[in-house]
Amino acid sequence: MTTLEGKTAIVTGASSGIGAKIAEELAAEGVKVLLAARSEDKLKDVVEKIESKSMGKASYVVTDVSDLQSVTNLVKEAQKEFSQVDILINNAGQMLTGTVRSGRVKEWERMIDVNIKGLLYCIDAVLPEMIDRSYGHIVNISSVSGFEVTKNSTVYSATKSAVKMISAGLEKELARTGVRTTNISPGMVETPLVAGSNWKGERKKLQTKDIVRAVIYALTQPDYVNVNEITVRPV
Ligand code: NDP
Repeated sequence: MTTLEGKTAIVTGASSGIGAKIAEELAAEGVKVLLAARSEDKLKDVVEKIESKSMGKASYVVTDVSDLQSVTNLVKEAQKEFSQVDILINNAGQMLTGTVRSGRVKEWERMIDVNIKGLLYCIDAVLPEMIDRSYGHIVNISSVSGFEVTKNSTVYSATKSAVKMISAGLEKELARTGVRTTNISPGMVETPLVAGSNWKGERKKLQTKDIVRAVIYALTQPDYVNVNEITVRPV
């Protein structure tokens, strides 16, 4: 296993839920973490929590991943602060109802813009420099909804299926470059994203720390090992 001490990471969607926990735990592992999301107050709270508990070093940049300029700015700030980005955790995402029959075009667009285009913008902004250095790790947070669809999740599932395909294609594109890609597909995790959903599953929800363990497992493999796909479901 390799250590994460001294590495640098951008975590998108780090103001809440899975992203906030990933940021906290990476910082605790000695990673210098730059948190990104739109809600400045929440980002500040997560950074304060990390620093007050002496969990490590963290800062934030208010970012809307669906805005290319905002993502360019995020990566510019990261390069200013760290000089290089070793790890990108592409976690920002939205789950809106947006069934096809509902005709809620704005909700479809929102999910496509954040979950697909935002993820691609972030990859594009860090990738050339990672390829130049022959080093980097991109972790995309997809979902089991990328494998399965319900009558209420058509568009969300389509976006998460796209994330899975982008991860798979990227692995092929990046073979022998030294840059690794991991797609993580969580089942239902207890976060604000699903707080309003009428979850009637018999299975217990996962906790954010269960996803963090999968992230850290992938990141701490030896440099020549690329864990491409992890699915985490509750029992
Ligand atoms: P949360 O709602 O708790 O967190 C979502 C995060 O994404 C927030 O930090 C939010 O911050 C950020 N975000 C949303 N839109 C944007 C945007 N335009 N630009 C930047 N950041 C944005 O949800 P989770 O932690 O549950 O979700 C994290 C990821 O995990 C998502 O991709 C989700 O699809 C995926 N996932 C979640 C599952 C679950 O059951 N919870 C299951 C499978 C996958 P802000 O609003 O401040 O911008």
